[in-house]
Amino acid sequence: MRGIVWFRRDLRLHDQPALIAACEACSEVIPFFVFDEPLLQSRVFGSACVNFMLGCLHDLASSLADRGLTLQWRRGEPVEEIVRAAREWKADAVYWNRDYEPRAIERDRTVAQRLAQAGVVVRTFKDHVVFEAEEVRGVTGEPLQRYSAYRARWWSKWYAVKPTVHAVPSSSRAREKAVPLPPSSLPTINELGYDHLAPWIEPGERSARKQLRWFVDGPIHQYGHGRNLPAIEGSAKLSPHFRFGTLSPKGAVHAALDSLSHKGPVSRTDVLTWIDELIWREFFQQVLAAFPHVVEGPFRHTFVPPSRDFGPERDRFFQAWCDGNTGYPIVDAGMRQLNQTGWMHNRVRMIVASFLIKDLLIDWQSGERYFMRHLLDADVAANNGNWQWCASTGTDSMPGYRIFNPALQSKKFDPDGAYIRRYVPELAHVSVKNIHEPHLMTADEQVLARCRIGADYPFPVVDHQQARQEYLNLGKREVMR
Ligand SMILES: Cc1cc2nc3c(=O)[nH]c(=O)nc-3n(C[C@H](O)[C@H](O)[C@H](O)COP(=O)(O)OP(=O)(O)OC[C@H]3O[C@@H](n4cnc5c(N)ncnc54)[C@H](O)[C@@H]3O)c2cc1C
Repeated sequence: MRGIVWFRRDLRLHDQPALIAACEACSEVIPFFVFDEPLLQSRVFGSACVNFMLGCLHDLASSLADRGLTLQWRRGEPVEEIVRAAREWKADAVYWNRDYEPRAIERDRTVAQRLAQAGVVVRTFKDHVVFEAEEVRGVTGEPLQRYSAYRARWWSKWYAVKPTVHAVPSSSRAREKAVPLPPSSLPTINELGYDHLAPWIEPGERSARKQLRWFVDGPIHQYGHGRNLPAIEGSAKLSPHFRFGTLSPKGAVHAALDSLSHKGPVSRTDVLTWIDELIWREFFQQVLAAFPHVVEGPFRHTFVPPSRDFGPERDRFFQAWCDGNTGYPIVDAGMRQLNQTGWMHNRVRMIVASFLIKDLLIDWQSGERYFMRHLLDADVAANNGNWQWCASTGTDSMPGYRIFNPALQSKKFDPDGAYIRRYVPELAHVSVKNIHEPHLMTADEQVLARCRIGADYPFPVVDHQQARQEYLNLGKREVMR
C-alpha cells in the first residue's frame, strides 16, 4: 500500500501521529507539503512567519532525508494539489493531522470528499493539541466558556488518559518505505513572494527541542516571576514552534513535568503555571472549534467596546501604534520588537492591545489583523482569543472597565527600562526616573538625555487619563449591562 503523509502545521518527526501511522500501515510512504498559493497571496501572514515556516521545512526535509525519505512539495491550491498528487503517484491513502481553523476544516472536508470519490482512503489524527474540543467538555457535554473550568477538566483528563509520546520511525524502517521520486529543492523566500528576514527564533524541530531542553533545565523553575519581565529570558519562546508543530504539545507537557525530578532547585508551582499557558492555548483552540463565529466578530455581544470613527485622526493614531511612535515607551518598544523580530513579549502584547482599544479607541480587529501579519507565531485561535480577552468581548475576558495604565505597567515590569532602551534607542540615555514618561523631562533633562521630546521622540499621541475617561464615558452603557 502506498500512502502520502500531508504535512501542514506538524513539521517534525518526533511524536508525529500521521507519519507514524503511515509508516506502520504502508509499504511505501511519500512525505508531502503544499505551499498554499491563495493563502500566500492573501498576505494574511507576513514575511516573519513565512520565513520561519520555510526554515522549518528545510529542517524537516533534511531530517527526512537522513531517513531515506524525500519531502515532495507543490505550490498551488491545496485541494487540487493533494488530489492531483494522489492520482499521479497512485496513492492508496492520504494521512494528515487535524487542524481546527474554520478555513482548514472546510478545506480538509473537501479534500476528504474528493479523495473518497477517487477511492483513496483518508486517515486523520489528533496532533496539534493534547485534547481536542470534544474531549474536554462540561458535565452535560457542553463546550466550556470559562478557562478555570476548562483547566480543571483538562487535568482530570490528563491523569485519566495519561497520554503517551510516540517514538520517531526508525531510520531502517523509514528507509524501507522510501519511494524513488526525484528530490527538488524547496523554493526560496523570494520565489514565494516574500522578503528575506533572518529568523529571530531559530526554525525547525532540532532548534525547538534544544530550546525546550534549555527552558525546562532552568527558566521554567522561575517562570511565575520571570514571564512578566520583558527584558529577561523568562519565558520559553516556543510559540512559533507550537504554531508550526515543530514541537508536540504533549511532549512539552511531559518534559515540563519530568523537570520536577531534575537535580537542583525545582519549583512545582512554576512548572504548573507554565503548563497552564499550554492549557490556555488549548482552551482557545476549543473556543474556536466550538464557536467559529469568533473569527468574524465578538464572542459575546453583551459588551461592545466603544470605538469612534476618527477619520484622519484614527488613521494617524493607528499608524503611530503600528510604527511604535505613540510617545508611550513601553507601547513603542513592544511594537518595534514586533516589527523588527516578528515576536513580542506576552505582557507587552497585553499592554499594546489595551492601549489600542482603550486609549486610542480603535477596534480590536484592526489590531488582531496587524498581529496576524507580523507575528511569527500568528495563530488564529490564540490571536483571536487574546484580542477578545483584551477587548473584553471574549469568553472569560478582562472586565470592560479595566484599563492598563501604560506608565504603571512599564514601571512595574520594566523597572529600569532595559527593554525600552533595547527597542527605542532614542531613549537610551534617558534616566531611570524619566524612562517611563519621557515627555515629563525638563529642558535640561532632555539635553542630558540627548533626546528632545517632539523632535527625537514624540509627545504622547493621547493623554492616558483623558483617554481612559473618554473610553469609560463612551462605554458606560455597555459596561453597565
Ligand atoms: C493580543 C495578544 C495576541 C496574541 N497572539 C498570539 C498568537 O497569534 N499566537 C500565539 O501563539 N500566542 C499569542 N498570544 C499569546 C502569548 O503572547 C504568546 O503565546 C507568548 O507570548 C509566546 O511566548 P512564549 O513561547 O515564550 O510563551 P510561554 O510563556 O513560555 O508559554 C508557553 C506556551 O504557551 C502558549 N501560550 C502562552 N500564553 C498564551 C496565551 N495567552 N494564549 C494562548 N497560548 C498561550 C504558547 O504556545 C506558548 O509558547 C497573544 C497574546 C496577546 C495578549
